[in-house]
Amino acid sequence: MKVTFPHMGHLHVPLRSFFAALGVETVVPPPIGRETLALGTRYAPEFACLPLKVNVGNFLQAARMGADTVVMAGGVGPCRFGYYAQVEREILRDLGVKLDMVVLEPPQGHWRELWLGLRAITGGADLKAIWRAGKLAWRKLTALDELERELHRVRAREATPGASTEAWRKIVDRLDRAEAVSEVEEVARQGKALLAAIPRREDDDVLRVGLVGEIYTLLEPAVNLEVERVLGEMGVEVERSIYLSDWVKTNLVFHSLHLRDDREEYRLAAPYLGHFVGGHGLESISFTIRYARAGLDGVIQLAPLTCMPEIVAESILPKVSRDVGIPVLTFMLDEHASEVGMRTRLEAFCDLLRERRRRKERFLVGARDAAADLRE
Ligand code: SF4
Repeated sequence: MKVTFPHMGHLHVPLRSFFAALGVETVVPPPIGRETLALGTRYAPEFACLPLKVNVGNFLQAARMGADTVVMAGGVGPCRFGYYAQVEREILRDLGVKLDMVVLEPPQGHWRELWLGLRAITGGADLKAIWRAGKLAWRKLTALDELERELHRVRAREATPGASTEAWRKIVDRLDRAEAVSEVEEVARQGKALLAAIPRREDDDVLRVGLVGEIYTLLEPAVNLEVERVLGEMGVEVERSIYLSDWVKTNLVFHSLHLRDDREEYRLAAPYLGHFVGGHGLESISFTIRYARAGLDGVIQLAPLTCMPEIVAESILPKVSRDVGIPVLTFMLDEHASEVGMRTRLEAFCDLLRERRRRKERFLVGARDAAADLRE
């Protein structure tokens, strides 16, 4: 069996490690590029979500490289994610592509199905082996997420644009090659040191912007036109509302045990949105409020064009923005989006945020002087 899976940010690093530790051969699709998009848009329905189109492109490229089985996460909810894997399976079948599809549904208390799916892919690996492979993959994932958070802080302050991106590539590559948890720990330590050693600019004129939106668009740089890198190189520190390890914790651990780790999101969003709308629509509202309260300068919402949960959030965000006092910019992305167009809008947004910050500072200085005059 030669297993493949769709790209989503650095997901391929822990997945490849997981399967390799269980002796399963993997075929990682080539990085998402023009050809991936061309294949996906040619064979997926025109109004399908962009992530589905990219997945189809990934699978077709992996099939050419010899993959025979796709492993895909299933999902539930009111949006299209619930039948995503099924649509992809139909597309591949219509094209006559010989790829079996194994859909691993979030267990939600029904562990048997997930267990059977894993056993089928791994040729009957026992629980101990799966646990050990999972532990290594999990540590890689958390190390990547911790270091990526640090990357966002460093990139906004680097003296030479591109220096931290270069370091990040080395870190991902080393983590990808690590074969034991102790090795991952060592690479994580080295990675932190590598990022810490990057020379910083002397000024600390850094904007802080929160990224909210649909998970795939947030996590996959090829789809969001590398918005985090572009912002970082403009001197903007990015805080992202979703990291892959958080998603795994919520969906594979908390929800499976019927526990909730999202009560705070529902509580914050409640005045604007009282129920789950699929995807991360509700979190786009709650995180915008969190970011305003944490003193961030602005929020950017990212989503694929026609993404239902994010369209709901987009229609509510102007009111949230006014109420909590934080500017929000929305990007609805499809296969025609261009980095040039996005960059122009980002530059204008950052100019607005800097001017807003200057006005706020002038106001505070004025208020302090007035208070001092009154005291005298
Ligand atoms: S969250 Fe949005 S992009 Fe993802 S499946 Fe649902 S509608 Fe499509």
